Amino acid sequence: MDTILVVNAGSSSVKFQVFSIEGEGRLRRQIKGQMEGIGSRPRLRASGTTGDPLADRAYPIEAVPDVPGAMGVAGEWLREEMRIHPVAVGHRVVHGGPEYDRPVLIEHGVVSRLERFATLAPLHQPHNLAPIRSILSRFPELPQVACFDTAFHRTHSAVADHYAIPHQLHSEGVRRYGFHGLSYEYISKALPQIAPEIAGLRVIVAHLGSGASMCAMKGGQSVESTMGFTALDGLPMGTRPGQLDPGVVLYLMSEKGLSAAKIQDFLYRDCGLKGLSGLSNDMRELEASDSFNAKLAIDHFVYRIGLNAGMLVAALQGLDAFVFTAGIGENSAGIRARVVEQFGWLGVTLDAAENARHSRLISRPGSLIPVYVVPTDEELMIARHTLSLLMNGPSRDAKHKRVS
Ligand code: ADP
Repeated sequence: MDTILVVNAGSSSVKFQVFSIEGEGRLRRQIKGQMEGIGSRPRLRASGTTGDPLADRAYPIEAVPDVPGAMGVAGEWLREEMRIHPVAVGHRVVHGGPEYDRPVLIEHGVVSRLERFATLAPLHQPHNLAPIRSILSRFPELPQVACFDTAFHRTHSAVADHYAIPHQLHSEGVRRYGFHGLSYEYISKALPQIAPEIAGLRVIVAHLGSGASMCAMKGGQSVESTMGFTALDGLPMGTRPGQLDPGVVLYLMSEKGLSAAKIQDFLYRDCGLKGLSGLSNDMRELEASDSFNAKLAIDHFVYRIGLNAGMLVAALQGLDAFVFTAGIGENSAGIRARVVEQFGWLGVTLDAAENARHSRLISRPGSLIPVYVVPTDEELMIARHTLSLLMNGPSRDAKHKRVS
């Protein structure tokens, strides 16, 4: 059985999935797993297609001190016990910089080019690249593909791509990139099947998970995103504040004496729903809580989605459909109802029963704008890209495109 391995590596966990390649290039998920607690309490967990457990075992910290160690242990388990010998590996890489507008086959020079973007995403890029390097050193012949969270947004106009700062910084890479691109690309590819009548029109997709952003799409392409230079901007998230006056960062430096590293930690880990509620970054816990600050955190989350949607409607010059996706968007009928309430001014009306059932279409037939729930699948998107590059090779202009 030919398989593709998909790897999504972070600082403390390496998530992986195995897809088998079926007839006519169809992909079927076979294994889903992760090595978590890297460098602290390493644990390998994996399950099969029906959620049946395949592995749940702890490792000593010395066996899994870092991401390459985690990749080594997970890879050995896949090879020795699962008999998986993938024909290619697809990686989630957060940053493709200004250059990459699509996935790329890892060939000579690509990794070092991607390393340059580590300064643009220092918390993620080095961890994303570590497994690519360790697989390259052990299995140099195995094709690997890097799939970027930024690539889908490279269609933005120059007006959308710029901050109002001197050009020199833009040419150094200080731009409004946008993230969650693999999720948005998956939705954009799914819409023609799910809702062909709106797929080519003006659509806002709300990816509401522990990270949260929204994408304005026209004709299936991204024209605007709530995220910018980093994945800190835009909507409030589990532990990130979303849009913040840069003056707050100056205040933290000058009045609180915090270093850049401390501020970074604060902005990525202590803000958002967690910071505002003082309780949790998990929407389920906040929805179950009676605390005033938990309610405030939810109200703020919903309010900012409404505000940002207004901004994206302006970017699109109208709206033809709205789509919810990711952990909160797919699973919380309560948050969806609250968000849709914010869109009353656009003539959107919710079908409460369909919303409670998590149906695909959750707006009423008379709603001026239809509202959908579409589960995302970033790993399947990566597997598809990997297979496509394996079968067809890079398209002529695909290696990297300069966006000036
Ligand atoms: P990520 O992939 O970025 O970790 P997910 O898209 O899996 O995030 O979303 C995770 C978040 O989704 C959780 O933190 C939780 O807040 C939220 N979530 C998951 N299920 C539910 C649910 N049934 N109700 C409300 N929120 C949920």
